[in-house]
Amino acid sequence: MSEHLTIENVRQRIAACDPQVGAVLQVLPERDGNPQTGPLAGRPVLVKDNICTRAGATTCGSRMLEKFTSPYAATVIEKLESAGAVIVGKTNMDEFAMGSSTEHSALQETRNPWDLDCVPGGSSGGAAAAIAARLADYALGSDTGGSIRQPAAFCGVCGLKPTYGRVSRYGLVAFASSLDQIGPLARDARGLAELLSVIAGKDERDSTSVDEPVPDYVAEMERSLTPLRVGLPREYFGEGLNDEVRASVEAAVEQFKKLGAEVREIDLPHTQYVIACYYLICTAEASSNLARFDGVRYGHRTSQPENYMDVYFKSRAEGFGAEVKRRIMLGTYALSSGYYDQYYAKALKVRTLIRRDFENAFNDCDLILSPTTPSPAFKRGDKSASPLEMYLGDIYTTAANLAGIPALSIPCGFTQAKLPIGLQMMGPLFSEGRLLNAAHHYQQVTNYHEQKPPVCAE
Ligand code: GLN
Repeated sequence: MSEHLTIENVRQRIAACDPQVGAVLQVLPERDGNPQTGPLAGRPVLVKDNICTRAGATTCGSRMLEKFTSPYAATVIEKLESAGAVIVGKTNMDEFAMGSSTEHSALQETRNPWDLDCVPGGSSGGAAAAIAARLADYALGSDTGGSIRQPAAFCGVCGLKPTYGRVSRYGLVAFASSLDQIGPLARDARGLAELLSVIAGKDERDSTSVDEPVPDYVAEMERSLTPLRVGLPREYFGEGLNDEVRASVEAAVEQFKKLGAEVREIDLPHTQYVIACYYLICTAEASSNLARFDGVRYGHRTSQPENYMDVYFKSRAEGFGAEVKRRIMLGTYALSSGYYDQYYAKALKVRTLIRRDFENAFNDCDLILSPTTPSPAFKRGDKSASPLEMYLGDIYTTAANLAGIPALSIPCGFTQAKLPIGLQMMGPLFSEGRLLNAAHHYQQVTNYHEQKPPVCAE
């Protein structure tokens, strides 16, 4: 990135352009006391609204938390601020990060800057749309099953889901704790590397964060690319993959060959079980994590309860939207006695098999290339009536969360209708440096990441 948007630029861009896009839920008040030095001094960052900030509300895109103000800031926010960054606003999302289109936000609609009739993807749709529309250079999202990578693909920007445990989840409102990771969105690999270098690392307040040294990801990114063995999973290029997406990803593979990579086909044999496994585990964990939103401990409280049970029932009935209720019910069912072994315990076993698929694959290659999504951004309203259809779009992204491995998405082309196409890269545990390195070298010889959407062009 040659030039950076200033805080003033970002505020102006949001005021002028966001009425069309709807990416930002709140612009935060200016705050004194930020250090003027540090690797991100003066750099504005937008943050998904399930990451707790002390300023403003942290709504999770839900009526339930519309008025919730956090008494503490997430570790990633503290780290960004001590690196000199300025948190300028909070971005829209599917309610409690459940969804792939941001249409499940209870608070606002977000549109895809490349085509305002299309969804921006989700659940970090606000963050991805904001980067695409040049409202900011940097954003944080969260990714439980693809929520950073999929909207990045739909909006033509870059997004990285780190290794599970690479980044502290302290202060991230939990959706599915064994899958959730916070990660960066930006326009290029350098932006991702700059953010990740600051937010990564062990945190005493998150026992699942890992005490693994944090490299300088910008330096890692700039190393030489070769020798590099790239694996192409046969299962990720099968039926259901859109032709234009396939063609762009295949062209990207050719580009990597030109850059000196050795390309081979690999197998991830349990891919057909990934969606079922993911949706059992994430709903089970969500049903437990969302029990705290009952109008007593957290969240919206109904105004005229008839008795005290009513406080719970009505508060939850009024506070949660349809998709969140559906998942709480699915998860409660999967965990209930009599069904636990058949569904939840079985899904955990399948998860182990999926993780082993990757361990085996990484004996034969250093990173895996695939499409991020089976199709480009879809029209608003197209899939909101069919939850299952929406879930199937997560086929290529959820495996990385189940296996805990890092994965990123970068732009690799456009459809004839000028919708962006995403290239996914997955690597072994803690291989973020390698993924960023490959992404950076690709971006040195391509310019898909530099294209600007028509909306609010200067
Ligand atoms: N689209 C997936 C889901 O609906 C992923 C969500 C996420 O990563 N937060 O669960």
